[in-house]
Amino acid sequence: MPTRQLFIDGEWREPVQRKRIPIINPANEQTIGDIPAATAEEMDIAVEAARKAFFRNSGKDWSSTTGAHRAKYLRAIAAKIKDRKVELVELEAIDSGKPLEEASLDMDNVIGCFEYFAGIAERLDSEQRTPVSLPMETFKCHLLKEPIGVVGLISPWNYPLLMAIWKVAPALASGCTAILKPSELASVTCLELAEVCMEVGLPPGVLNILTGLGPEAGAPLVTHPHVAKISFTGSDTTGVKIMTAAAQLVKPVTLELGGKSPIVVFEDVDLDTAAEWTLFGCFWTNGQICSATSRLLVHESIATTFLEKLVKWCEKIKISDPLEEGCRLGPIVSRRQYEKVMKYISTAKEEGATILCGGARPEHLEKGYFVQPTIITDVKTSMQIWIEEVFGPVLCVKTFATEDEAVELANDTHYGLAAAVISKDLDRCERMAKAFQVGAVWVNCSQPCFYQAPWGGKKRSGFGRELGERGLDIYLNVKQVTRYV
Ligand code: NAD
Repeated sequence: MPTRQLFIDGEWREPVQRKRIPIINPANEQTIGDIPAATAEEMDIAVEAARKAFFRNSGKDWSSTTGAHRAKYLRAIAAKIKDRKVELVELEAIDSGKPLEEASLDMDNVIGCFEYFAGIAERLDSEQRTPVSLPMETFKCHLLKEPIGVVGLISPWNYPLLMAIWKVAPALASGCTAILKPSELASVTCLELAEVCMEVGLPPGVLNILTGLGPEAGAPLVTHPHVAKISFTGSDTTGVKIMTAAAQLVKPVTLELGGKSPIVVFEDVDLDTAAEWTLFGCFWTNGQICSATSRLLVHESIATTFLEKLVKWCEKIKISDPLEEGCRLGPIVSRRQYEKVMKYISTAKEEGATILCGGARPEHLEKGYFVQPTIITDVKTSMQIWIEEVFGPVLCVKTFATEDEAVELANDTHYGLAAAVISKDLDRCERMAKAFQVGAVWVNCSQPCFYQAPWGGKKRSGFGRELGERGLDIYLNVKQVTRYV
């Protein structure tokens, strides 16, 4: 594991207090290295570097460069990551517990995301001055789209590099300069991104990457008076803290928070295909996906057969060290998260639910934070397992009789990130898509996510959109210029 420092103003800097956080491989519980822990002191230095890199007038500053100029750097970063893909994929798997195959797909998306936002940056030049038609000829008006300033980007551990890039790529493409604060539970590939930035000669201060704990490193970023905006992905509990702190400075925030998404399986489906999407939608990335379709609503007429199939398939899922070939389910990211998942399962039992399969550690693995793929039935809407985000490989099940009942159950959550519907009746799917109170709907699938389409939630899943053209807009300020002629 490479030993890295904080990446500030284009160079590595040791944290002033020399404090470091251990990196633990979740597959074998071994300490395999450490990352630096930033504090408010280093955040101040990094914000100052980003401010210097942002501000106009010298003609060299990032915010006044053309989109095409910025795009060259984004493309160069994408190319370097491509060159180092095998190494980065392995680091991601060891650090986060993600199976190699999944980490590899994530890395492809990282590369694609940089290239996609490079394309948007290239087009931005022609869009930066948009005329507005007015009802009076005596006035002329146009809009300027300007980068918002120094932005604070705070990311989670479940897609360690990818979730960071969903923010870094559009922020840099827009002309903002940035401080990235990745999750203390999986920061390794984000620190490697710093190395890549140095290799491509990204101007100092444009992107600063500071690892550390949330309250010590993330909180000072949120309250820093020179940080113009916060883009946050993480739990709703932290999201509330960030929004509260940012409100004191009237600072805009984009919040991508948790979820408890439903997958609705109707009676007319092909059972094999529906089972595949159901398991994939809940167990991909070891069940640690914000949009995991972790509440299965299955039509009562097919429930018994469908559940039998799911249980049989769960028994075949390969659970192993993520570096092993064919691994489908790796460990949960940390001991704390593992214990949290186990507690959710035991509480479900205590509340009267049935553990249809899984619910324990796999017997063949002595070390590591592994949890068997778990299916829970006899679930009531008052139970914790129905209400709260588990963030582990746990599917809870309810049956329904009518389409109206399915809609009611699907929307029975304070979250609103995503929902899936599986049915051969496309009119019905269309009705369901409209009825779901969420930011993303999957029809006859679950989880595919393309950086061309905007992503974000409703209700307690947050607000604002990342990805797509809108993913760049959140880093731009629109200014109107009205002239009397
Ligand atoms: P978390 O809220 O614990 O931490 C997220 C980040 O916030 C970390 O970098 C952490 O250090 C930082 N942080 C913690 N306290 C802070 C504070 N007081 N001030 C500033 N920063 C602080 O979340 P997590 O456990 O890393 O990630 C899992 C959560 O993320 C799940 O709820 C999941 O649903 C959500 N998530 C959402 C999306 C989405 O697109 N909506 C995507 C991925 C993950």
